[in-house]
Amino acid sequence: MTIGWIWRVVQQAGFCRTAGIEPQSTMLELDHLTKRYSALTALDDVSLQIGRGEFFGLLGPNGAGKSTLMSLVTGLGAAEAGRIVLDGVALGEDSAGIAAKIGYVPQTLALYEDLNAEENLSIFGRLYGLSGAKLKQRTAACLAAVQLTDRRRQAVKTFSGGMQRRLNLAASLLHSPQLLLCDEPTVGIDPQSRNAIFDLLQQLNRDGLTIIYSTHYMEEATRLCSRIGIIDHGKILGLGSLDELLAQLPSAEVVTLPRAGIPVAALEQLAPFGELHQVSEQYELHLKAGVRLAEFFASAQVAGLSDRALQLKRPTLEDLFLHLTGKTLRE
Ligand code: ADP
Ligand code: MG
Repeated sequence: MTIGWIWRVVQQAGFCRTAGIEPQSTMLELDHLTKRYSALTALDDVSLQIGRGEFFGLLGPNGAGKSTLMSLVTGLGAAEAGRIVLDGVALGEDSAGIAAKIGYVPQTLALYEDLNAEENLSIFGRLYGLSGAKLKQRTAACLAAVQLTDRRRQAVKTFSGGMQRRLNLAASLLHSPQLLLCDEPTVGIDPQSRNAIFDLLQQLNRDGLTIIYSTHYMEEATRLCSRIGIIDHGKILGLGSLDELLAQLPSAEVVTLPRAGIPVAALEQLAPFGELHQVSEQYELHLKAGVRLAEFFASAQVAGLSDRALQLKRPTLEDLFLHLTGKTLRE
């Protein structure tokens, strides 16, 4: 009991981080969560634990259930079955306490277009109970964090899509949440804004913020997230670090070749080496475990394929998604 209490105090004071010890406590627990919209099951018996300080990626195509999951955690939607526990408190037990701990960046922008950036943040800050000097200080800090200080007096309707996204992110941070839910925050924005968002999220995570980041871009999940959940049709199909996930692939290597001009006879000769998939303009041959590359390339040459037509690539989350679902993330 005493040790447990000291451990909590140490964690809250952030000593674990500075001492380089990773705290293991759970920030968010989803326990057999099911959500239906009429006949459609948007989340299907999802169980998931997210540790304090994690940068967790939720990777899945459109319609997978990512936004639904986030809306349940924020309390905006209600599940048909299951339980959500945030920082030891079950959702529904202490709504105000839970709201104070969560920051939510919704997929659809939630901003007042006719007001300027500062006025928008003032409104959101007041919703979170901030006022006076504290509100001013947090508004200034969050505007600076998303690099919009210079533009603070300009109407949001004059902002680019990327600037609006950054302001949306700033609004979610005003009350210094412990868990940030980012729902596809980079869709359709310029590279500069995307990088500004990545840099800020990575900094916030280093400072201890737990982040759940949804995306259908495997590059983002690969770059940002320490652990990834692959979701499709409301089910978590894979869960782990990038390396753990990729280790589930039956083969380590994928050879791509153009679809145009490849004779069927050549494909038949390559078939024993792995699984062949058609991906847009290319074939992907997922080599079987244990295939010797030299032997494969020798056979390809015999089949009349030049080395230049064949490209060897490292497996990616896209390959894993294809392996798990038979389709690509963008389909
Ligand atoms: P994602 O965010 O991964 O694109 P969503 O959580 O938005 O997926 O949607 C999951 C599924 O639930 C989809 O099939 C979607 O059409 C459906 N859905 C989402 N919201 C509603 C709603 N309010 N009413 C009916 N169906 C919905
Ligand atoms: Mg969504």
